Amino acid sequence: MQKFLINSDHIHNDRIILNGSDVRHIVKVLRLSTGDPLALTDGRGTDFFGRILSGDQSRVEVKILETHPSRTESPLSLTVCTGMLKHQKMDTVIQGLTQIGVTRWIPFFCERSVPSPDEKALTRRMARWQTIADETIKQCQRSRVIDISYPVTFAHVLSMHNEYDHCIAFWEQGGKTLSRLTPTKGINQALVLIGPEGGFSESEILEASKKGFVPYSLGPRIFRAETASLCGAALVQHRLGDM
Ligand code: SAH
Repeated sequence: MQKFLINSDHIHNDRIILNGSDVRHIVKVLRLSTGDPLALTDGRGTDFFGRILSGDQSRVEVKILETHPSRTESPLSLTVCTGMLKHQKMDTVIQGLTQIGVTRWIPFFCERSVPSPDEKALTRRMARWQTIADETIKQCQRSRVIDISYPVTFAHVLSMHNEYDHCIAFWEQGGKTLSRLTPTKGINQALVLIGPEGGFSESEILEASKKGFVPYSLGPRIFRAETASLCGAALVQHRLGDM
C-alpha cells in the first residue's frame, strides 16, 4: 500500500481531506473509492490509517481509524554529506538516501566538486530535491521526510563533527574496514562524508582527520560518487542502524 504525505492543514478532527495531485493519484491511478483503506503520514514521524469516506475529481475525504508513531523509521540518526555532483546524479542520490532511511542530507562544495552555481539555480535544485524526497516517501513507507540542507562549504561540514558519535569519511585511497565500526550505547548519531566525482584531496582528508573523522573504505573497487553515497549509507545503517 502506498503512503500519502500530508500536513496539518489536511487534518480536520477525525478526517483528512486530500486535494490536488493526490486526488488524481487515488481516484484515477489507484482507482480507490469509498470504503477503501489508505495509509498516510505527516512526514514528521506520525502515521495514519483510514478509510475513504467520499471522493470525487477534486477532493478525497478519509476517516482516520488509527494514529500511531512510525514503525518504519531507523533508530540511527544518519546524516550523509555528498560533494556536489551534476543534476541527474544528485537526483539519484536524494531518491536513494530517502529509501535507505537517512535523516539528513547535506550537499557540499569542496576542491573537486562541480563549481558553485548561482543562488537562484541552487534554490531551484533544492525545490526539485524536496519534490523527489516527498514523492519517494509514498513508495518506501517512511514516516519522516529527509531533511535537505542548503549546500554548504566543506569547512562547514567539518565544523559539525562534535554533534555526532561517529564521523566517517569514505576514502578510496585507504581507510579502515567497516567491520571496525561498532555502535555506541543509546541512540547513535552518524555523519558520513562522500567526496565528489574527483574525490577528496589528501589535504581535505588530513583536515577531516584532524577534526576526528575516521577514513573508512568501501572495498577495493572505486564507486561513482552517487553509488558510494547509497552503498556507504546502507552499510552504515547495517553496522549501526536497523538493516
Ligand atoms: N577520484 C577518485 C574517485 C572518487 S569516487 C578516482 O577517480 O579515482 C567519489 C567518492 O566516492 C570518493 O570521494 C569516496 O568518498 C567515495 N568512494 C568511492 N569508492 C570508494 C571506496 N572504494 N572506498 C571508500 N570510498 C569510496
